[in-house]
Amino acid sequence: MLVDLHNHTPLCNHAEGTISEYVEQAIKAKTLFFGFSDHAPMDFDPKYRMKFSDMKKYENDVHNAREKYKEKITILLGYEVDYLKGHMDERVLNADVDYLIGSVHFLEGWGFDNPEFIGKWEEQDIDEIWQKYFDTIEEMAKSKIFDIVGHFDLIKVFKFMPKGDINLMAKKALIAIKNADMALELNVAGYRKKVEESYPSSSLLQQAFDLGIPITFGSDAHTPNQVNMFEKEITKLAKDVGYTECVYFVQRKKKFISL
Ligand SMILES: [Zn+2]
Ligand SMILES: [Zn+2]
Repeated sequence: MLVDLHNHTPLCNHAEGTISEYVEQAIKAKTLFFGFSDHAPMDFDPKYRMKFSDMKKYENDVHNAREKYKEKITILLGYEVDYLKGHMDERVLNADVDYLIGSVHFLEGWGFDNPEFIGKWEEQDIDEIWQKYFDTIEEMAKSKIFDIVGHFDLIKVFKFMPKGDINLMAKKALIAIKNADMALELNVAGYRKKVEESYPSSSLLQQAFDLGIPITFGSDAHTPNQVNMFEKEITKLAKDVGYTECVYFVQRKKKFISL
């Protein structure tokens, strides 16, 4: 991937490898802009993220890697932040970073993508869950807090598919993303999950393209060997849909680069 902005570090407690190992893998892959966006600290679900007291270390470690590898690759600094009302913290939202990825991993406190809580899928109407998810993404876009939408249709992770038309369910969210001037991330983690396809799906990506929403890319790597996995598939998908460029962010400003 020329641009790969979604990558984790062991500070989140569920990733492995050193920052250098991730970067060296990206250099091997000929990535030009490689970003870390580890799970930002939050006073909810603290087990799966860094602590507030780790922020300095995280930012310093990424800055040091930027300096160390500057001849070979451009390293960018970000956070993946949960859009969860009442739990978004100013220390994260005002951090001096290149970009913030906004992700929805919780619906009313339910970690719907966590295998630990998969049982809850049986207790509710699947179509209602999906609609609630996209309504939350719409709300996130309207908040205008973030630069990038993380894994746009993560709700499909366990392949509990709705009866209704997904394109219709997601439409208002996509329009809000366009109006907020955000970028949509093409995230390959879905290929590693039960659903076995990218986030977003090709038909949702087509809708995004028709609306003129810019894209970026993310390995969503939690181990160094996941960096740049499924690069061929994801680049082909972007081009097939019609994209000829993608974006990265420096100091919260969008920059375009040809695919
Ligand atoms: Zn993670
Ligand atoms: Zn995520």
